Amino acid sequence: MSRVYNFSAGPAVLPEEVLREAAEEMLDYKGTGMSVMEMSHRSKAYEAIIHEAEADLRELMNIPDNYKVLFLQGGASQQFAMIPMNLMKNKVADYIVTGQWAKKAYQEAGIYGKANKIASSEDKTFSYIPDCSDLPISEDADYVYICENNTIYGTKYKTLPNTKGKPLVADVSSCFLSEPVDVGKYGVIYGGVQKNIGPAGVVIVIIREDLITEDVLPGTPTMLKYKIHADNASLYNTPPAYGIYICGKVFKWLKAKGGLEAMKEYNEKKAKILYDYLDESRLFRGTVRKEDRSLMNVPFVTGNEELDAKFVKEAAAAGFVNLKGHRTVGGMRASIYNAMPIEGVEKLVAFMKEFEKQNA
Ligand SMILES: *Cc1c(COP(=O)(O)O)cnc(C)c1O
Repeated sequence: MSRVYNFSAGPAVLPEEVLREAAEEMLDYKGTGMSVMEMSHRSKAYEAIIHEAEADLRELMNIPDNYKVLFLQGGASQQFAMIPMNLMKNKVADYIVTGQWAKKAYQEAGIYGKANKIASSEDKTFSYIPDCSDLPISEDADYVYICENNTIYGTKYKTLPNTKGKPLVADVSSCFLSEPVDVGKYGVIYGGVQKNIGPAGVVIVIIREDLITEDVLPGTPTMLKYKIHADNASLYNTPPAYGIYICGKVFKWLKAKGGLEAMKEYNEKKAKILYDYLDESRLFRGTVRKEDRSLMNVPFVTGNEELDAKFVKEAAAAGFVNLKGHRTVGGMRASIYNAMPIEGVEKLVAFMKEFEKQNA
């Protein structure tokens, strides 16, 4: 068996310890004589799994009691509709468009009500986060929406927007659990787990209780109401049971690593190795305004498409895979999520230096 260094943006690298543990429990989960995949979601064994997962996530993120934690399906993209369907009481919402995912959410919201684009960084290919300290927040906006870490472009909000009292809704798919957050500053925090937490198929929604109501847009399907899932503790129907089990293991792995403060320190150290090299390299350069750089997704280019392609190919042959940039931007992107070990980044930079020597 040989594992590669997987720099994929998602689905992405998971902690090896977690994968080994899951493998050990595959045929017989804790004496039940079956895999978690085969077990009733109403069984005692499974109830313990989902309850513990929620409790560990609450502890890791220090989630206040007046927030619900929901384990749902449909990926982050389903939330693009679920959010307006549940939250648009006035049928108005303000969107800050900092990349493809925010744009998709903004466009989806437009189906259900008046979605206002109150700021954007599209003028410079989403390479920065706009100043959000004094935006024209709509008087009757039901919420203000952001994508906190822009997976494709590699930008991250370092300060949250001033929403002037409106609830903040944030897609944190690609920065989930990468550093501590003050949950109380948000109305909704949500993310697909396949970037930084677990297998695709689970989306976690952390939502302030007062935002969960019966008063949803007419025609909202039962399965897309936050209230039905909140009232049933994410067990209204069969949840993505195996995926939640793996998420639970990742939560325990994070706790054992020292929690989110420790993770932040580790992620900063890791990202610095790559960014420092990009800043000094004569061949490669980062594409994002320095103060807005993401700790998780690091896009870079040589400025020559052929050379980019050569790099991606040679890197893959050397065991550094999935470094090709998103199809809409080209170049390269190294996603260095929680589970990417620091050695992976050190070795990648050593490889880049060698490539630079031969190609600059
Ligand atoms: C990947 C990603 C999505 C889309 O996730 P799906 O689970 O495929 O719907 C949405 N937002 C962000 C920030 C992402 O990185």
